Amino acid sequence: MNTPAPAQNDATVPGLLVPAQADRLISENLSCLPIESLPLVQCAGAVLRENIYGERDQPPFDRVAMDGIALDSAAVRDGQRSFHIEAVQAAGDAPLTLSARTGCIETMTGAMLPAGCDTVIPVEDISVSAGIARLKDGALIAAWDNVHRRGTDSRQGALLLEAGTRMSPPEVAIAAGAGMARVRVSAQPMLAVLSTGNELIEPGEPVLPYQVRRSNVYGIIAALRRHGFQRVADDHVRDDREEMRARLKLHLNTHDVIILSGGVSMGRFDLVPSLLNELGVRTVFHKVAQRPGKPLWFGVAQSGPAVFALPGNPVSTQVCISRYVIPALLAAMGETQPRVRKIPLAAPITVTSKFVQFVPVRTEVDDWGRDWALPRATNTSGDFTALAGTDGFVELPAGPNTYPKGFVTRLFRW
Ligand code: AMP
Ligand code: MG
Repeated sequence: MNTPAPAQNDATVPGLLVPAQADRLISENLSCLPIESLPLVQCAGAVLRENIYGERDQPPFDRVAMDGIALDSAAVRDGQRSFHIEAVQAAGDAPLTLSARTGCIETMTGAMLPAGCDTVIPVEDISVSAGIARLKDGALIAAWDNVHRRGTDSRQGALLLEAGTRMSPPEVAIAAGAGMARVRVSAQPMLAVLSTGNELIEPGEPVLPYQVRRSNVYGIIAALRRHGFQRVADDHVRDDREEMRARLKLHLNTHDVIILSGGVSMGRFDLVPSLLNELGVRTVFHKVAQRPGKPLWFGVAQSGPAVFALPGNPVSTQVCISRYVIPALLAAMGETQPRVRKIPLAAPITVTSKFVQFVPVRTEVDDWGRDWALPRATNTSGDFTALAGTDGFVELPAGPNTYPKGFVTRLFRW
């Protein structure tokens, strides 16, 4: 496909970081979360902090792979078509031994192949009467048919899962298969999500014409939960120095990461950066050459916690949580190979500014199974209603430039 790729501008606006530089600063300033040993049932979504090795060969024995009869294929090659059923061997039974080549052993999927047998003939290919199994016409038999041979998947001692792997369902099953009852994973971070702003009113409460629903926190917590973060406190602070100082101090003492929304722009009541500095939280950066989300602030407290202060505009908040906070939390948990998703644009997008642009998209699959990103227009970074039905956003390099249909770029899912 034709995918012209204009060079990525890496320092387009003097004095302002580009997103890749912000990523680097975040990862350089994050500390790794402690290790905890968890029962396997609690490990979905966790990041492994130890390697997992094969307990035994996999499969651990020559495993019968079909319900049927086990026999010695040499007898079939010699022309024999009927076999006396000597015994039955089910999964979990200690292995039997075939006593004569004229016989067979009825056996089930998951059983160990009986000694003296080298093939399994499925029930579909035999008929049984009076204790004799007869091969149907046309049944083809070869040695090791329907036998899942020992060690052909993996060997005892082989590295199955590497530290830094995120445990999705298959990885949990693999660890169980390796005999692990508990595994060492990163502790879940203790997160505090704080909204700021006198205008914000909780859903369910009466709202006056000049007030605004406190919606960002719900979007942030939903994103955190979706990515497996469960230990989340939720708080609201008014634009009042003393109140904000007291609440921030409390949360800095009790959480690993604090995520604020609002109060980081240039207004008289945008108190967050200066208060954080007063409380010993060092500014790592403030402002990134991006749209939306330019006022993003990130800092680290002397005592350890990291603080993300996200711009309050709802689209900015939602973009910044997916673009920066979730990847940072996964990195702090020790994830070594974050999944970078890329996708072609389904329609051209013009970026007018010298800022990197994040454009909400809906992903759709065409008749050839290929994903496309359909851009969704928003009416400013306040227009979060336009995000309904979108799957995430694409990151477009700084402009001015028009990125054509087919331009392949990074996709971030909500
Ligand atoms: P700020 O960054 O505090 O200047 O806020 C920018 C805009 O986002 C203002 O219109 C706020 O009312 C709005 N806003 C801030 N926080 C929230 C929130 N938690 N939910 C919804 N809107 C918000
Ligand atoms: Mg505000």
